[in-house]
Amino acid sequence: MTDVQTATVLCAECKIALQPVTQQQTEDWFACPTCGTGDTRENVLLEAKDHATELVAHALQDAARNAAKRNKFITFRGQSIPKRSYRFITDVTL
Ligand SMILES: [Zn+2]
Repeated sequence: MTDVQTATVLCAECKIALQPVTQQQTEDWFACPTCGTGDTRENVLLEAKDHATELVAHALQDAARNAAKRNKFITFRGQSIPKRSYRFITDVTL
């Protein structure tokens, strides 16, 4: 399984690691040092985890689709997984 906690969370736009922002007194706040896109640690991790989950889902679907292509007795009927846009992603590779 992919553990986002051990992966580096990156800004989806700039592809650089988010940095903790200490000026925010309320919560753990992480933001991109270049464009300033940020959120609480919890939200950042949630969104990065969603992105990682989608990566895995796409990889599995591609594998299923490719398997179906090679076998004329199997028809791939899966719905394409819609791509959403993410502010935060991880550096995990599958
Ligand atoms: Zn950025």
